[in-house]
Amino acid sequence: MAAIKACNILITGANRGLGLEMVRQLVEIPYPNRQIFACCRDPDGPKSKDLKDLAKKHPNVVKLIRLDVANANSIKEAAKKVGSLLGKNGLNLLVNNAGITAHGNMLTTSAEDMHSVFNTNVMGPFTVIKEFIPYLRTAAKASGTPGMSCNKAAIINISTILASMTCVGEIYPHWTAFSYNVSKAALNMMTVLAGMDFKPEEILVMSLHPGWVQTDLGGEGAMIGVKESVEGMLRVISGLTEKQQGAYMDYTGKTLPW
Ligand code: NDP
Repeated sequence: MAAIKACNILITGANRGLGLEMVRQLVEIPYPNRQIFACCRDPDGPKSKDLKDLAKKHPNVVKLIRLDVANANSIKEAAKKVGSLLGKNGLNLLVNNAGITAHGNMLTTSAEDMHSVFNTNVMGPFTVIKEFIPYLRTAAKASGTPGMSCNKAAIINISTILASMTCVGEIYPHWTAFSYNVSKAALNMMTVLAGMDFKPEEILVMSLHPGWVQTDLGGEGAMIGVKESVEGMLRVISGLTEKQQGAYMDYTGKTLPW
């Protein structure tokens, strides 16, 4: 099991798929006073039942937070709520996991799909980072140790190999999600630039591809299950240092070509 020693962790889109499995595995890793802010847009809806049950089982660790990444006000409200629960302690690890896709190539993708996918996959992480950066700064300052790590202050953007200009040629003809690929390529650029912006403050930023995973988004025919993907991602996250600032990696720890 990965030795994640981040005290305070926030995950968006935590009610199902990879986000939910991340919360599930993190609660099994004991750490004193850990808080996991499990964010989802509809905590009372049927799609959040499993997360709600998990939060009930671990009330001191799992904090359910309403957060719609496509809505700036919702992100602001969530930041206020999380801030009040963090107190003087900062946020050590922020996982921008929530994401959506839409089917279609350049010609069949509508402007509405393009807006909606960009709003969730690009504007979402952008606004989340802006609202939560004060807490990551607090954690970076409080750590008292030099260098970068997920235990100190880190932002993980869940990306995809489909954002790789080098690799996408082999996949795109079989999995046509034009808006998704373009949005995740923008997310990767955000990783690189935010990595430069936050380097002086020793806040780590990187993009992580979870593999092709059996979730609602990945489909039943995907190559791996959520357990394997999240085990791999947590192992990678736990080993990150300043050497991986602005990196693009997959769940096995391999660096991906841009
Ligand atoms: P799922 O479709 O299973 O889950 C997506 C999650 O994102 C759900 O919790 C969903 O919540 C949430 N979400 C969507 N829109 C919003 C929003 N506006 N606000 C808050 N939450 C939102 O997908 P995965 O678990 O597979 O995907 C997780 C991440 O991994 C995504 O970023 C995806 O792009 C990435 N990824 C996945 C791959 C795969 O093969 N599965 C491959 C490569 C990358 P709700 O229930 O409310 O809809």
